Amino acid sequence: MTTTSGNRLLTVATIVIALILTAHAPAARADIIYTPRDSYGQTIANGVKVYLSRACHNGSSSSNPCVSNFGCSGHVGENTWSAELSSHTLYEPDGQWGLVNRQYTVRIGTGKTQNNIANSNSWNSDVHLPLHSNASGSTSCGTPNSSDGTWGLYVSSSGRQMAEAWRDYFGSGSPGPNDKIVYRSNLGELNQTSMPAGYLEASFHTNRRGMEWMMDWEYYDWRVGYAVDKCAGYPRHAQGDTSSARCPWL
Ligand SMILES: [Zn+2]
Repeated sequence: MTTTSGNRLLTVATIVIALILTAHAPAARADIIYTPRDSYGQTIANGVKVYLSRACHNGSSSSNPCVSNFGCSGHVGENTWSAELSSHTLYEPDGQWGLVNRQYTVRIGTGKTQNNIANSNSWNSDVHLPLHSNASGSTSCGTPNSSDGTWGLYVSSSGRQMAEAWRDYFGSGSPGPNDKIVYRSNLGELNQTSMPAGYLEASFHTNRRGMEWMMDWEYYDWRVGYAVDKCAGYPRHAQGDTSSARCPWL
């Protein structure tokens, strides 16, 4: 074997190894964008772009990118629940109550928190909506019924209006009585996003009644679109329902 052919073999082997490594590298998870269309395939967007940011509390390593908070036994974990809710809320069987049925253009953020913030900013979404269940950590059913409820977190005055919509139109479905809005200045999804942001803490996964309610998506998933529509004044209607519009930026 000459030196030249040895080098060539080495080069070929390097390329093969590189191809194998590339083939087995985990693919970067891309966001998914849903565009409302009529039965002819024509876009019927109402002009409002909604970013649903799935929960992914940053993990410690690439093999564990998201720490999921588990609460009461039987809970799927906050991140899995959030991913389920984000997809359940797009289309409703009756064809009118889902976010896309309501003609919002929806982007679902599937990455880590910082990726979702960057993608929402570069996409120029009109509203940024992190979808979370409450309580940090994975303590089991320690939260009493009286403390359970839906929280809307906000930092800006516009975001506060969306937080109020979470409280009033999502929280009215959740079982706990403690529905409220909470000012938070230390959440990246609120203060690093350049559009109004309303952060949903749907209920407590550390309260059994709240957890069991959250696991039945089909009974309340329409409330995401309901809260956004209440904020936006029902833009799918030509005239809009301005009497109930709460969030003038939408
Ligand atoms: Zn969370």
